[in-house]
This record gives sequence, structure tokens and C-alpha cells, in this order.
Amino acid sequence: MKHYLSTANHMLYLQHLKKDGGFHSNSKVIEKEQLQAMHEFLNDKITEIGNEMTSGKTAIDPYNKNQEQIACTYCPFNSVCQFDPTLPDNEYKPVMSLSDKDALSLMVERVKKNRGETN
Ligand code: SF4
Repeated sequence: MKHYLSTANHMLYLQHLKKDGGFHSNSKVIEKEQLQAMHEFLNDKITEIGNEMTSGKTAIDPYNKNQEQIACTYCPFNSVCQFDPTLPDNEYKPVMSLSDKDALSLMVERVKKNRGETN
């Protein structure tokens, strides 16, 4: 069994290759095209958020994933932040629970749509 190093989430993982040179089903790897789609999706998202900010949208809407993961829980700005979920205009932004595979599919789909490509 061969080993090699790959990067994901800024960490190094030791991956195992099958005898035929392919990856095991539990290997955390993606195709080059998927990685490019992720980069493009993130660049589009950064641009979108930047454009919203420069056009005056400064709403505070921290994410809340099923009441289990809330952005404010470990936020270093919690003590000075004005967000108060008991106020009528302060609402958490719900976040969908997606598998890695489904999230990647949605990103690829969105990038294709932004490029004007059809499925
Ligand atoms: S505490 Fe304030 S700055 Fe921090 S995540 Fe929550 S809303 Fe955002």
C-alpha cells in the first residue's frame, strides 16, 4: 500500500492508495475541476459580499446551524458586539446541513450557472 501527502483544510493528511492507483472511498480528495469550482465559488462569494458591503448592506446575521453551531458562541467580538437575538431585527441566518458531497455539487452547480453553462 502506497502513501502520499495531500492538503485539505490547511492540514496534511496521509492518504492510502489502492493497488490500482485509485483512492479509497473514504479518502478526502476531490477532482481538479471540483477544486477549481470551489475556488471560483469562493471568489464569487467574496465579490458578492464585498459588493453588498460597499452598497451599504451591513446587517449582522450570524449563522445558526440547527441550534448546534452558532457563530457567536466562540466569537472574539462577542463582548462588544451589538447583536442581540432577543431584539426583533436581530435574527440568526439559518444554515443548511449538507454532506460534503452535496455542498460540493451545489457549488459546482452555482459556478456553472454563473458562467452561463447549462447542465
Ligand atoms: S458575536 Fe457579533 S460579530 Fe461575533 S459572530 Fe456573533 S454577530 Fe458576528
